[in-house]
Amino acid sequence: MFLVHGEEIAADAPVLRTGGVPLVPAGFTWPLCRECGEAMQFLAHLPLDFGTVAVFMCQDDPGMCDCWDAVSGANRACLFTGPLSAAVVPAEGETLLGAVTALRPHSDDEPAEESVLGKLGGEPEWWQNDETPVCPSCTTPMTFTAQLEEGHDHTTAINFGGGGRGYVFHCQACEEAAFVWQR
Ligand SMILES: [Zn+2]
Ligand SMILES: [Zn+2]
Repeated sequence: MFLVHGEEIAADAPVLRTGGVPLVPAGFTWPLCRECGEAMQFLAHLPLDFGTVAVFMCQDDPGMCDCWDAVSGANRACLFTGPLSAAVVPAEGETLLGAVTALRPHSDDEPAEESVLGKLGGEPEWWQNDETPVCPSCTTPMTFTAQLEEGHDHTTAINFGGGGRGYVFHCQACEEAAFVWQR
């Protein structure tokens, strides 16, 4: 199912969106980049039928950390279940996108290309080789969850290297998620 550009919404809206603040369980700690140690940027809130996936990636010094890599520790995807509430955003760092954008499901015909911000389920459309990650807990290949485009407004877009694409995966049994991007 395609996800198309929706309206600008509240930062803590409990809907499919890029930007805004993550909704997290009690005791959540904002992820820090394993390579540079700085707070990551929150990219996407994806409430789905098996749980909620939150995607983060290091943007402290774009291009310096391996933020495209599923195992570098320079990005983080979390799968949450149970009650969630808005996270406390760290006071410093590149932590938030420039806009909060609803990702509106579009199931019928093929939407106009410029409106597409991603898709849910189906098969990943890789730019490069298949980089399906294995679950860090059970080591089986993870299930493809969603694909994210950068967005067309450069002042608010996600940075996937300029025209890249993000891929979200999960393992429901282990409550794990992973993220990789390519261009
Ligand atoms: Zn970093
Ligand atoms: Zn697993």
